[in-house]
Amino acid sequence: HTSTVTTPYRIAGSVTGRVPVGIGRKRTRVVVTGGAGFVGSHLVDKLIKRGDDVIVIDNFFTGRKENVMHHFGNHRFELIRHDVVEPILLEVDQIYHLACPASPVHYKYNPVKTIISFVYISIWIEFDYEGTSDMFKCCFIIFFNLDVLEILNCDYKTNVMGTLNMLGLAKRIGAKFLLTSTSEVYGDPLEHPQKETYWGNVNPIGVRSCYDEGKRTAETLTMDYHRGADVEVRIARIFNTYGPRMCLDDGRVVSNFVAQAIRKQPMTVYGDGKQTRSFQYVSDLVDGLMALMDGDHIGPFNLGNPGEFTMLELAEVVKEVIDPSATIEFKANTADDPHKRKPDISKAKELLNWEPKIPLRDGLPLMVNDFRNRILNEDEGKGN
Ligand code: UDP
Repeated sequence: HTSTVTTPYRIAGSVTGRVPVGIGRKRTRVVVTGGAGFVGSHLVDKLIKRGDDVIVIDNFFTGRKENVMHHFGNHRFELIRHDVVEPILLEVDQIYHLACPASPVHYKYNPVKTIISFVYISIWIEFDYEGTSDMFKCCFIIFFNLDVLEILNCDYKTNVMGTLNMLGLAKRIGAKFLLTSTSEVYGDPLEHPQKETYWGNVNPIGVRSCYDEGKRTAETLTMDYHRGADVEVRIARIFNTYGPRMCLDDGRVVSNFVAQAIRKQPMTVYGDGKQTRSFQYVSDLVDGLMALMDGDHIGPFNLGNPGEFTMLELAEVVKEVIDPSATIEFKANTADDPHKRKPDISKAKELLNWEPKIPLRDGLPLMVNDFRNRILNEDEGKGN
């Protein structure tokens, strides 16, 4: 799929329009925010492979240069260290907005202070700047600056302001915008499996809310920019995903179990281990994201593998695949942990012609070498 770029704002030295690639396909210029992260870097690999020009924006909070280093020197690849909570101007055709710490360890324990009024001011400037009197503008800014609220978690800030900045960019340059939302918008679901039509059961004041509500707000902003400013948008709701390049110690269950089994430590099962998740291999997700971006449907679309496992079953699979002598240790569960989660993917199957291909038992072995090598390097680095 290709789209025409119209650019009201010209950037010095940039060229409007795209360079033809081969016969019948134009090279697409793509931004991937969070492109040095686990999912982002796999997406970048595939976009580069099909001949796109890719700009990665990453602040390296959870992303790693090592994930994209193999593209250094490739003229189609650019890497920018930048935090999406600050605006940026680039000229591209497509924006994949992935930037956001997604693991509970990172999103719960990285408090920052910010001012919510800035969010409102940005929204207002985007939508209503023209035709508003200067006097009203000043009153508006003063009013909201007086109403100073502190948000004590950067995930909300990343989700809301980061999404807002990227939507603003998409609007200015006429780019297509894809939001990577999450199955967490369903909270602790009362409907099972979850369809996209389900509105969710989210605790708005809990420790996970910064992530869940942040993503819900990001979805709202995305649809408002679509309805109000005609931005061409796509929304993916991503279910638990695993694969090579996952952060080793980010607290996700798959990375924890795999790393623990390799390190010969007991696998930590939280609660009674009967809660369920559905795990998708990262290449399936990347295929789904690209099908969504290049297709004609806004979404939201569930992108996940419907194969559902309890955490105890997952531990058994890790034992089979990595170390039959691995043991289990029970630990107290965290607050607001969803009891079950499984995507209904009929909509993606029908409209995107997409479904995951790699079951858990085939996918887990594909991440073991990467984990072993990194754990080995870490140990050597510590002088062990
Ligand atoms: N979990 C676990 N042991 C761990 C890490 C997580 O049993 O070492 C559980 C956690 O309580 C949750 C499930 O695994 O029920 C999935 O957790 P994860 O953080 O991977 O994903 P999310 O909760 O965001 O779906």
